[in-house]
Amino acid sequence: MKPVLLHKLHQVLKILNKVPFRQSLLAGTIILLLLIYPYPGATQGNQSKKTLQVATKVIPPFVFQDKDKLSGFSIDLWRSIANEMGADFKFTVYPTVPDVLDEVEQNKVDLGIAAISITAERQKKFDFSLPMFAGGLQIMVRSSESKNNIFPNLLQTFFSPTLLQLVGIALALVVIAAHIIWLFERHHQEAMISKSYFPGIFKASWWAAATLATQADEMPKGPLGRMIAIIWMFIGVIFVAYFTATVTTAMTVQQLQGDIRGIEDLPGRVVVTTAGSTASEFLRQQKIKAVEVAGIENAYDTLLRNQADALVFDSPVLLYYTANEGKNKVEIVGSIFQEENYGIVLPNNSPYRRQINSALLTIKENGIYRTLYEKWFDVKKA
Ligand code: GLU
Repeated sequence: MKPVLLHKLHQVLKILNKVPFRQSLLAGTIILLLLIYPYPGATQGNQSKKTLQVATKVIPPFVFQDKDKLSGFSIDLWRSIANEMGADFKFTVYPTVPDVLDEVEQNKVDLGIAAISITAERQKKFDFSLPMFAGGLQIMVRSSESKNNIFPNLLQTFFSPTLLQLVGIALALVVIAAHIIWLFERHHQEAMISKSYFPGIFKASWWAAATLATQADEMPKGPLGRMIAIIWMFIGVIFVAYFTATVTTAMTVQQLQGDIRGIEDLPGRVVVTTAGSTASEFLRQQKIKAVEVAGIENAYDTLLRNQADALVFDSPVLLYYTANEGKNKVEIVGSIFQEENYGIVLPNNSPYRRQINSALLTIKENGIYRTLYEKWFDVKKA
């Protein structure tokens, strides 16, 4: 009981000693009323009626912003929590998670909610609610990377400097072989080649090229010509073997380079993520170089415009994009390689943490959480 109340009670009792029964009955009623009257400032009601300042940031599907209207899983979740607490609140949108954290740290807002990962590092400076969503980091690539690219890859192989060089050597060899064969064959009576230079060399070149690539359909008639033909056929076998090996190697290397299946494939590739995110911190720790852009929309653009080979970010955010806007354009590869939970961030020793946690637990127990989850992460829609 408040000291003021005790004092009042004492005073009343003192008076009571001096007054007759009827008045004392009246006084007793007054005392009783005084005791049960909600003393201003004595209840929690006042505290929860304060308008809570809530910081957030746009991150679909957790927070969407359409002009002044906010929606998304985290927005709905906070509305339900506040409703459960009987609290009034006001949202303010900040550009990045570090901005939200700054506001919370400087006590300019009462809490932050979006897709904010609970990390050991952040835990040092802030209080977090119980986890409100389980996720982690994953990799996204352009979907054409693995499927539609066979044709361009072949073209690329055929026009690669190594192959062009090989074709050049083959042409030179064919011309040389054609001259030798023409020189030895042209005097033969039933020669397969004409005596005069031009028709003769054309025919001999055709023969040399055909022999190199496949099989000769005609054979020189003179003994010397035949000797040369045999040598030429051996050169053909070796050349075809060498050619096949070169093309196979080139294509295998290309395929290996085109394949990103997990975190171990990332070093040496151009990776994009957003500045200040837990993904950028993870990549730094793994010593994987990454292009850091502002906002996830820019990261999607960078990937789609071929300026990056892979995007590393929060799995639930990537999954939502893959199932909606990014459908047929991007795909997720590998499983989650770093688990993370989202939480509501509060200043250290926040008086609201307990209330928020019990509201969150109630919402999880009474089915509201599930309804919200199904609304924003409807698997059937995906
Ligand atoms: N979950 C990440 C973080 O807390 C990224 C969230 C975001 O960029 O909105 O840093």
